[in-house]
Amino acid sequence: MTDETARFDPNEEQAIQKQYGSGAPPTCPRDGTVMTARSIGGGSFGLGYARKREWLICPTCKRSVIFDLKRGTRN
Ligand SMILES: [Zn+2]
Repeated sequence: MTDETARFDPNEEQAIQKQYGSGAPPTCPRDGTVMTARSIGGGSFGLGYARKREWLICPTCKRSVIFDLKRGTRN
């Protein structure tokens, strides 16, 4: 039961998001590892608005978090 997709606490997710949004490399709040960022999306949602999601994965504890990027951050 260790290979279930582990999640962070909401507080930790917020911290990661905030860190990422400030331009700093996001680090895992559990072990301090720099997380791997992956962009998801690419416009196949067909809803007419560009919604970009960011997927951050910690290679150490395998926890991941997905959050939406609001427009106007960096383009
Ligand atoms: Zn971790």
